[in-house]
Amino acid sequence: MDLRFTPEEDAFREEVRGFIRDNLPDDIRKRLRIGYPARKKDTVTWQRILNKRGWAAISWPKEYGGPGWTPVQRMIFLEENSLAPAPELNSFNITMLGPVLIQFGTEEQKKRYLPRAANLDDWWCQGFSEPGAGSDLASLKTAAKRDGDHYLVNGQKIWTSTAHHADWVFALVRTDPQAKKRQEGISFLLIDMKTPGITVRPIISIDGSHHLNEVFFDDVRVPVANRIYEENRGWDVAKFLLGNERTGIARLGKSKERLEFAKEVAREVRTAGRPLIGDIPFRQRVAQLEVDLKALELTQLRVVSAGGRRQDGKPDPFSSILKIKGTELLQATTEPVMDAGGPLAMPVWASELQAMSNEPPPGPEWAAYMAAPYLFLRAASIYGGTNEIQKNILSKAVLGL
Ligand SMILES: Cc1cc2nc3c(=O)[nH]c(=O)nc-3n(C[C@H](O)[C@H](O)[C@H](O)COP(=O)(O)OP(=O)(O)OC[C@H]3O[C@@H](n4cnc5c(N)ncnc54)[C@H](O)[C@@H]3O)c2cc1C
Repeated sequence: MDLRFTPEEDAFREEVRGFIRDNLPDDIRKRLRIGYPARKKDTVTWQRILNKRGWAAISWPKEYGGPGWTPVQRMIFLEENSLAPAPELNSFNITMLGPVLIQFGTEEQKKRYLPRAANLDDWWCQGFSEPGAGSDLASLKTAAKRDGDHYLVNGQKIWTSTAHHADWVFALVRTDPQAKKRQEGISFLLIDMKTPGITVRPIISIDGSHHLNEVFFDDVRVPVANRIYEENRGWDVAKFLLGNERTGIARLGKSKERLEFAKEVAREVRTAGRPLIGDIPFRQRVAQLEVDLKALELTQLRVVSAGGRRQDGKPDPFSSILKIKGTELLQATTEPVMDAGGPLAMPVWASELQAMSNEPPPGPEWAAYMAAPYLFLRAASIYGGTNEIQKNILSKAVLGL
């Protein structure tokens, strides 16, 4: 297998790089470069600019508003987008819901939801996990009882990212509590977050940010027309969605960008009177991370060039390797910058309180904010299916243990 990019792919990379350079608002790029997360309005602004160019729904076929790219083109786009750095696309809309609607939705559902999802007119969130149903997702309890042409939904979801921003949630609910197998009694519903009976409560994470939520459903009426695919067959939909989620989660471009930033600040920071970039242990560490990133890039190319799926259409279990190594490197590449910042990168300076006070941080702005992404990314080995669970998948599906 030849893993070099073709001249057409190199030209495509140049086109993407040029478009991002010319169209990404400078204030957004600057904020992301020093480590701030994209705000909702940043993501909406950028996704709409991309959508206008036909580049938002990157994995959807052309007939549904996608650009019709090959998997390698998609990979190049994602890398360039992260390297810019630009806000990531809303993955709930693009990577998760969109492909589900295209695969399982009715024509009416596709027409109604896809264009709005691509343009971020609707912000979606994912209501899968519950207290007691995370890794063991099939034990979920949120109930949906048929009541005429509606379901009556009762229960609780947890760890729902950006639910406080969301217009809609796609949720797994139990429609047949008597089913022989737990997986057989589950359905996949689209729920308008404005429906009476929904309560969203914030969970503040270790970096002091509000990204996660608990979502409570009390007698929430959801039209039967909002069910995707057959009743009690929602597990098939969920498996399809989770396979896509895992493939996109390596975020290689983000790790590369963080490492480039570490090198940039290491030219500025001095240790024993000399720039940190000349320090041999620091250089060795950065070099090792670059080697690891290159190895992951080649693995990703192998998985991606096969479309992230096996010949039978099921998710490629090798995508679990991308999830494990990708998130380990995502965590590791935030560490050199933290070390470069030393005491100036202490979490206390990263807090929202500091941002609200009039006192400037006692060092460069990047150092003051580094602890927040460093701390938040500890969660990367948990979300999208924990890395232990990915190792179980690999041991069964790849090693046959
Ligand atoms: C930042 C963040 C964002 C998230 N966003 C969302 C979201 O938007 N929507 C959503 O639905 N969920 C979301 N989640 C939830 C996430 O999917 C779950 O946290 C994850 O699946 C783990 O479930 P759990 O937290 O219940 O842990 P548990 O399943 O209770 O696991 C606890 C520990 O036990 C280990 N473990 C469990 N079972 C096994 C096993 N069989 N073999 C080996 N080890 C095992 C796990 O690896 C873990 O270390 C998010 C989580 C985080 C941290």
